[in-house]
Amino acid sequence: MADANSGGTGGCLCGAVRYRYQGAPASIGLCQCRRCQRQSGSAFLIGVVFPKDAVTIEGQLATYEFETDGQRLRRHFCPVCGSAVSITLDRFPGIRSMMGGTFDDRNAVRPTFSIWCSEGQPWLKLQEGITRFPDYPDGTFA
Ligand SMILES: [Zn+2]
Ligand SMILES: [Zn+2]
Repeated sequence: MADANSGGTGGCLCGAVRYRYQGAPASIGLCQCRRCQRQSGSAFLIGVVFPKDAVTIEGQLATYEFETDGQRLRRHFCPVCGSAVSITLDRFPGIRSMMGGTFDDRNAVRPTFSIWCSEGQPWLKLQEGITRFPDYPDGTFA
């Protein structure tokens, strides 16, 4: 885990978007909401949360923006290959969530919790040690 503290790199499937992060993430959690299922085409997104300034992105991201509870949420993805790369939210302007599946070092991605378990795929069983929340409790990410 020592390497996780000095930062690391990641990128999309095709390599058009690359990024570097400094330091260790503030938190790592899964989101099983239906929107994250649709965006990922899978059972969840892995949100690796950093202070916004800790991540430097190279390449062009496309953005799908929508409003939830009166707040804007932006899903940033590679326009070439479609990989989900990052999420930013008006609600938490100081943070940037990077998608764990895009990390170069898989050992840097260790989720400790999952939100929106109530919307999860019924077959999915998370391992012990991952705290499960039925929805999105305040203070989970920031
Ligand atoms: Zn790409
Ligand atoms: Zn979600």
